[in-house]
Amino acid sequence: MTDRMWSLSEFRFDQAIQAAEVSVFDDETGRFELMPRDRAIALAHAREANLVEWWPQGAVEAPQCVITKVTLPLRWEQLPEEAEPVDERLWFEASCGGRDFLVGNGNTFTGRMMAWCPQKQRSYRVSSSEIEVMPDETRYFVTGFLAGTQPGHPIDDRGDTDEADWAAWLSATRRFRRTGQWNGRWGTCQECGCVLLPDNPADHCAEHSPQAAG
Ligand SMILES: [Zn+2]
Repeated sequence: MTDRMWSLSEFRFDQAIQAAEVSVFDDETGRFELMPRDRAIALAHAREANLVEWWPQGAVEAPQCVITKVTLPLRWEQLPEEAEPVDERLWFEASCGGRDFLVGNGNTFTGRMMAWCPQKQRSYRVSSSEIEVMPDETRYFVTGFLAGTQPGHPIDDRGDTDEADWAAWLSATRRFRRTGQWNGRWGTCQECGCVLLPDNPADHCAEHSPQAAG
């Protein structure tokens, strides 16, 4: 499941913590202690630190908090920029006929991977369906990539999953791991009118595909 990373705008500390009581982690005892939020803030300030809400989800009754230093304006930790390293075992025959390399996630559409072309010295995005000739190393990289990036199953507001949705998700992700395609839009079968699984980019269901008929 690809849980989204949280935004810095969701970081909560001191008075921004929306709760009357908090559960504060005590470094010395290794335990949480329940106390009024304002007392916890005073305790943190007495240690020249701040009260920070620990879990990004929020909206719980007495959120778990830690005492740690916060500096304004808020900013993320910084890492030096660096290019994805190229592993030359992960080659594939590119459309130009040369050997290009898979280097990671394309971060656009589900299933798109980042590739590097050493001839043109540039990166671009590619799907597994566009790759035919590749060694075992690349094949297993793609298999792991697709399994790791498949969308999570549908849930409703209460976190429950409908039985038909669950079965559809199992089918769609199974086919996705084989094809690398995830259409991500609604569609229906032109023949029978069923709602297509979200990986299916065609205009017909598996039962009514021209290949199944022929
Ligand atoms: Zn159909």
